[in-house]
Amino acid sequence: MARNAVQFQKGLSEAAFEDLYGTEAKCRELVMRWRWPNGFECPVCGGTSDSEVKTRGLFQCSACRRQTSLIAGTIFAAIKVALRVWFRAMYHLTQSKQGISSIELGRRLGVTQTTAWTIKHKLAQVMMERDAEQQLNGRVELDDAYLGGERSGGKRGRSAEGKTPFVAAVETTPEGKPVRIKLRRVTSFCNHAISGFAKRSLDPTCEVVSDGLACFAAVTEAGCQHQVIKTGSGPAAARTPAFKWVNTALGNIKAAITGTYRAIHQKHVPRYLAEFEYRYNRRYDLAAMLPRLIHAAVQTPPMPYRLLKLAEVSA
Ligand SMILES: [Zn+2]
Repeated sequence: MARNAVQFQKGLSEAAFEDLYGTEAKCRELVMRWRWPNGFECPVCGGTSDSEVKTRGLFQCSACRRQTSLIAGTIFAAIKVALRVWFRAMYHLTQSKQGISSIELGRRLGVTQTTAWTIKHKLAQVMMERDAEQQLNGRVELDDAYLGGERSGGKRGRSAEGKTPFVAAVETTPEGKPVRIKLRRVTSFCNHAISGFAKRSLDPTCEVVSDGLACFAAVTEAGCQHQVIKTGSGPAAARTPAFKWVNTALGNIKAAITGTYRAIHQKHVPRYLAEFEYRYNRRYDLAAMLPRLIHAAVQTPPMPYRLLKLAEVSA
C-alpha cells in the first residue's frame, strides 16, 4: 500500500463503532467469546459448566459454586467503568493518529482525567507487552532521540537534562520502504545499552545503518552488520536519504507528543513510545487495529495499578 493510501484509509467510523460495540451487551459478548472461546471456564477449579446469575452479571461454577465476573482477572477489572467505556477508549487510542491525552480522553468518555489516565496506561501496557518480543529483520535505520523536557523528540546535542533517551529503529524493505518500528528507552547512549537493545530487538541478520554516533557500533555484539553513514549536522542531516524513514517517524513522534501532551513523566516514557509503535506497526489496517487491541486486552493479564504508577520498565 502506498503511503498516501495509509494516510487516507477510512479507518473505523464512529457510526461503525457504535454498530459493532455500542452497547454493553455487545461488548460483553465479545469479551466472553475471546476470554472463553470454548465456553465458560472456572478460574478456580477449571470447571466448564455454570449457571449465570443474571441479575448481577455473574457466572456461578456448577462444580465449586464460586461466582466469577466476566472481567475478573482482566485489565477491565481495574476500575469501575462499563466495558463499553473501555471499548470507546480503545477506539480513540487506535483511531487517532496523534494519540490522545488523558484529559481529552476523559472528556470524550465522560469520566475523570484520573480514570482516563488509568484506562489509557492499562491499554498502553497491553500494547507494550504485545510488541515486546518481536524482532526487526533485514535493513534497519537506527537513530537516537530524547523525549520529555521542553523539546520532545529532539536530537542529541541539545541539553539532555530532564530528558529521556531512546532509540528509534525502522525496518525497511531492501528497496527502502518502511515496514516496522521499534522505539525503546535506553539508560544512556552507551555501548552496553545499545548492545542490550540490539540483542532484544534486532534479529542477528539485520543490516543496520546509523550515523556516526560511536555507541551504535555495539549492534555488532548482537551479530548485526553495521554501516556508518556520516550525515553532518543540522537540517541537512535530517534529509539524508539513508535515514529517511527513521527521521520521518521521529518527526511524527515529536509532532504527536508536543501537540497532544503537556509533559511526559520519565517513568511513563516506555508506554508513550509503545502506543506510537503499536499504531505505526499496524498502520496498514486502521479498522482492524481496534478488534486486535480488544483481543489483546482480553488476553493480557493485568499489571497492578501500584506497579503501573511506579513502573520503571527497563529499556
Ligand atoms: Zn469452579
